Amino acid sequence: MFENKNNSTTNISELGEFGLIEHLTKNFKITQKSTIKGIGDDAAVISNDSLTEIVITTDLLVEGVHFDLSYMPLKHLGYKAVIVNLSDVFAMNANAEQITVSIGVSNRFPVEALEELYEGIHTAAKLYKIDVIGGDTTSSKTGLVISITAIGRVAKGEAVYRNTAKENDLLVVSGDLGAAYLGLQVLEREKKVFEVNPQSQPDLGNYTYLIERQLKPEARQDIPKLLKDLEVKPTSMIDVSDGLSSEILHLCKQSKVGCTLYEDKIPLDQQVISACEEFKMDSTTIALSGGEDYELLFTVKMEDFPKIKGNPNLSVIGHVTHEKEGVHLITRGDEKIPLIARGWNSLESEN
Ligand code: ADP
Ligand code: MG
Repeated sequence: MFENKNNSTTNISELGEFGLIEHLTKNFKITQKSTIKGIGDDAAVISNDSLTEIVITTDLLVEGVHFDLSYMPLKHLGYKAVIVNLSDVFAMNANAEQITVSIGVSNRFPVEALEELYEGIHTAAKLYKIDVIGGDTTSSKTGLVISITAIGRVAKGEAVYRNTAKENDLLVVSGDLGAAYLGLQVLEREKKVFEVNPQSQPDLGNYTYLIERQLKPEARQDIPKLLKDLEVKPTSMIDVSDGLSSEILHLCKQSKVGCTLYEDKIPLDQQVISACEEFKMDSTTIALSGGEDYELLFTVKMEDFPKIKGNPNLSVIGHVTHEKEGVHLITRGDEKIPLIARGWNSLESEN
C-alpha cells in the first residue's frame, strides 16, 4: 500500500514517459565492471570477455494501450511483439540471438488463442534466426500483457550508442516513415464502419502497405549488415519507435548536439502521400510524430557520404550542428521551425 509522507502527489502525466524513467532511475549507479551501458539507450550492453558484448532490451505490450485485439490478429501481435524488441537490438548495431517471452493472460483467452499468439512469435523467431529460451506465464485480471526480452551480440567496441553523434555528421534514416500510423488510422476507421454495419466489406486495396506496416512490421536486421559491407560505422543510432522528431531529440539531447532536418528529404511511400490527402493530414507531421516505423535513425561522418549516397535503403535527411543551434526543421517553404516531440507517449494525459 502506498503511503505519502508529504501529503502531495504528482500525476505521472506531469513527467511523461521519459521524464518518469529518468526520475525513477536517476539514483542507480553502475557498479559492475561487466556493465558497459546501463539505462538510457535502446538496449543495455554487458561484457565478460574481450571479444564480444551482449546487448539486452525489454519491451512491455499491454492490451488496450499498445494493441487492440479487435483489429490486431493474435498471430500478428506475437510477430510484432518480437519485432519491436529486435529493432532495439539492431539499433545498437548488434545482431539478435535469443528472446524470452512472458505473458499475463486472463481466462478470456482459450488455449487456441494463445497458440495463435505463439505461432506469430515462432514465425518471427524463425525468420530472424533467434532462439526462444524462456519466459514466464501468469494470470491477469484485465487483459493480455506481453513482455519480451531480446538478447543480442556485437563485436567488442562495435556497439553504437545514442550519445555519440558529432557536429557536422549527416543524419540518415532507413526505409520510409509514417506508414504504420496511417495503417492504424485505416484500421480504426474500418472498425467504426464495421460496428455500424457488420455486413460491410471494406476495400483496403489502396492501403495494403500501410496496413502491413501496422500489423506486420519488420525490424531492420539488414541495415547493420549493409553498413558493415559499405564500411560505414554509424557515429550514433536509435530506432524509430515513437516518431522521427522524438528520436532525433533523444539523439541530440544525449549527444549534446543540435540538428537541422530537411522536410523535403523525409522519405515517404506513395501510399502515405495519397492516404494523407484522403485523411486531410499533413504527411510531414505524420512522419515526425506517427511512430511504430521501426526504421533505424543514425548519424555518419560527412566523409562517408559517397559510400551511402544513392542507396535505395537510406536517406540523408539532415545534419548535426552545435548544441546551441538547437533542433530545427527546414520546411519546403524554407522556413526554419523548432522540432518538438509529439511522438507517441503512452503516459500522456488524454486532454
Ligand atoms: P525504447 O523506446 O528504445 O524501448 P525506452 O524509452 O523504453 O526505450 O527506455 C529508455 C531507457 O530506459 C532504456 O535504457 C530502458 O531500459 C530504460 N527503462 C525504461 N523503463 C524502465 C524502468 N521501469 N526501470 C528501469 N529502466 C527503465
Ligand atoms: Mg528503441
